[in-house]
Amino acid sequence: MSTINKQIKSKHPYLKQWIIQSVPSLIDKFYSMQTKIYWIIHGLVDFPKCQNPNCSNTFKNRNVGSILKGYPQHCSSSCGLNSPLTKERAKNTCIERYGTISPAQNEDIKNKSKKTCLER
Ligand SMILES: [Zn+2]
Repeated sequence: MSTINKQIKSKHPYLKQWIIQSVPSLIDKFYSMQTKIYWIIHGLVDFPKCQNPNCSNTFKNRNVGSILKGYPQHCSSSCGLNSPLTKERAKNTCIERYGTISPAQNEDIKNKSKKTCLER
């Protein structure tokens, strides 16, 4: 665990108190200090939702990976793969990557990689 946590606990008890009071939704001991600090930095008042528009899960039962990384975009990797947004994004990446490919390049390889890309 991070030194931030230790430092806050041992050297800044008032800061710790302030952090805890600032995020009442995270009162449960389950939530890490990183998660609390992340909420304060980003001004969160509620648990973020999974970014798959067809999914209603929130990150209620999770802590952030780190203050910098925050929450994952999706509640699970399979949910991320099923998200229409992910599919859309993958398609756009393909178009960006292969849409302007030089015509001098082998047409066959180009089509093959495009196909694999779109099937994903
Ligand atoms: Zn989800």
